[in-house]
Amino acid sequence: MTDFTMTTDADGVATIVWDTVGKSMNVMNQQGFTDLDMLVGQALADDAVKGIIITSGKKGSFAGGMDLNIIAKMKDSAGDEPARGLFEGVMEMHGVLRRIERAGMDDKTNKGGKPIAAALPGTALGIGLEIPLACHRIFAADNPKAKIGLPEIMVGIFPGAGGTTRLVRKMGAMAASPLLLEGKLNDPKKAKAAGVVDEVVPADELLAKAKEWVLSEPKIVKSWDEKGYKMPGGAPYHPAGFMTFVGASAMVNSKTQGVYPAAKALLSAVYEGALVPFDTALKIEARWFTNVLMNPSSSAMIRSLFINKEALEKGANRPEAPDQRVQKVGVIGAGMMGAGISLVSALAGIEVVLIDSTQEAADKGKSYTTAYMDKGIARKKATEEKKEAVLGLINATTDYAALEGCDLIVEAVFEDPSVKAEVTAKVQAVTGPDCIFATNTSTLPITELAKASNDPEKFIGIHFFSPVDKMMLVEIIKGKETGSVAVAKALDYVRQIRKTPIVVNDERFFYANRCIIPYINEGIRMVKEGVEPALIENAAKLVGMPLGPLQLVDETSVDLGVKIAKATKAAMGDAYPDGEVDEVLFWMFDEGRLGRKSNAGFYAYDEKGKRQGLWEGLAGQYPVADEQPDLTTVQHRLLFAQVLEAVRALEENVLEDIREGDVGAILGWGFAPWSGGPFSWLDIIGTPYAAERCDQLTEAFGPRFATPALLREMADKGQSFYGRFGQEAAAA
Ligand code: NAD
Repeated sequence: MTDFTMTTDADGVATIVWDTVGKSMNVMNQQGFTDLDMLVGQALADDAVKGIIITSGKKGSFAGGMDLNIIAKMKDSAGDEPARGLFEGVMEMHGVLRRIERAGMDDKTNKGGKPIAAALPGTALGIGLEIPLACHRIFAADNPKAKIGLPEIMVGIFPGAGGTTRLVRKMGAMAASPLLLEGKLNDPKKAKAAGVVDEVVPADELLAKAKEWVLSEPKIVKSWDEKGYKMPGGAPYHPAGFMTFVGASAMVNSKTQGVYPAAKALLSAVYEGALVPFDTALKIEARWFTNVLMNPSSSAMIRSLFINKEALEKGANRPEAPDQRVQKVGVIGAGMMGAGISLVSALAGIEVVLIDSTQEAADKGKSYTTAYMDKGIARKKATEEKKEAVLGLINATTDYAALEGCDLIVEAVFEDPSVKAEVTAKVQAVTGPDCIFATNTSTLPITELAKASNDPEKFIGIHFFSPVDKMMLVEIIKGKETGSVAVAKALDYVRQIRKTPIVVNDERFFYANRCIIPYINEGIRMVKEGVEPALIENAAKLVGMPLGPLQLVDETSVDLGVKIAKATKAAMGDAYPDGEVDEVLFWMFDEGRLGRKSNAGFYAYDEKGKRQGLWEGLAGQYPVADEQPDLTTVQHRLLFAQVLEAVRALEENVLEDIREGDVGAILGWGFAPWSGGPFSWLDIIGTPYAAERCDQLTEAFGPRFATPALLREMADKGQSFYGRFGQEAAAA
């Protein structure tokens, strides 16, 4: 069966319908291009056909884009000379779309040819917009839920089937830049206002309007194929165009710190393409696209941020168990976390009982949802009715009896084992035997907390990150006795609230905090050694970390760091390795510099709380050394501090799946997304080099960089993490 079919009506209009077999939304694959090309060719050659409409057989959407599984593997399947193979493959794709665009016109006179309209019933993304851009007129159904755009940049590539070149020629570089550089999506009306689509029509008139246009003998030659074409807003050497390109280049570099190859390649394709005729520009676009596909960062980003993220969201690691979707959740503790957990649950339509020790505290927790919805109304993203409906789902109370009938409890009271134990017993006096009890603890072992439960098999960790409504990762932690129904419940709940889960085993700090704490500590350690704080912070950002380690301490607060340090030291005794870090941290604490919340930390803040620069007073206590390390050394210390913890977590079976290690790192603490995550990064640099570098760092800075046995073994065997632990390896 083929994804494209064509019928021609009595008026001579051929309609090509795209309907990917077995998918709810159309996605393009190699065969699809061949089929589309063949059908367009047939229609152009058929004298009985006056014009063509390309549309979709899916209700409410045109296409979701290219099948990213194929893009991720394109390099591997491109033969011995992958760059050449890729370039030729991309040029074939261009050929198909260019044949649509030229539609049989004479190349010299632009005479002849048949009109081709794209009729979009709804969402059109990626290649699903690049094909319409090659058509002569784009009709979109007035479907406010539809999203139209080119989001490729979000997964580390850019529109490489002519979308970049066509959009810039259609709209100008300035107008196209938010769509290309930020992957901004618009509904049909906004897409029309921006100049991406040509007409928005009522959904039930979509095909009729397209047909009317096709039969009106319209002019079909594209402006860029005519003599005297001028790019809207000016080409690079035009004074206005010059300003655009200078600005865009600076903006891209400030936003990406130069670590995302796709953003730079996109800009180069646009700039260089703007200086030459259209067909040459397509070739330039194809070269840069090949360049991006050849960069291991793009396939790692696609793998983690799209393929594996989606697999985890769909329950890749869900144990066999009946449907565990949550009907009624009890949230205990209406503080910062409990308030956010109630909000996301109610937004998903789940009934919530929000409990705190006083009615005032419970109401305050609920008011977070009120404020959130009010903001949504102000931004026209929500309505009064929706607000009432969401608030109506939350019962803020002090009465534990209201928990009756809950099938899930999420406990978010103070981080104190005795308070948590007391709450567990109080809850279980009311809830039934099937209710799953989850704790949101960030540091306490689940297995220990489960001792307070009357059924440890139904006890689990569901660890949210702050702020709950913004952070997409949820870490699910299995205690020693946690059963599979509890895991399935946690996973079904996370799916209901539309977040991304990872499932890990119970060890100190679980996974995310285990890796982020050494990153922070390495930064503080360097302060103690006299490394220039600006070097530490900039090194982190230049390697793609969203926040430098010192800024991260300020955001999460120095007192929290002190609390965690004290608890860890008490638990580890003499084996505790971070005394030098604590010296700096405790000194900051004694100085009252607690971070952003006290308007004073490693950074200085103005009276309104706006971050200024690094605090100059720090040098008084920890003078900057005369000799400074080079940038790469600082970056490697910061990266290996995190990555080695990830490897140890895998060795110790805290992580059971490297996909979770990579996706969790990017979504949980922003680990350099360009790399695809810690395991992908190790694969990019290669395990032999990673082990060698660890040996050097160990010699220079101490045993915390010691090569884990697993990494050493893999280095000796020349193995990669995805080669050894990836899905394909697991399936073999
Ligand atoms: P918080 O201090 O803001 O809120 C705790 C709430 O629990 C308070 O409203 C308090 O009145 C209430 N409470 C205390 N004892 C209670 C009892 N016996 N019965 C009912 N309510 C009680 O704390 P938070 O930041 O929301 O953290 C809550 C939990 O979430 C902690 O275990 C913490 O480790 C964990 N956590 C926090 C973060 C974070 O960034 N803050 C992130 C992940 C997990």
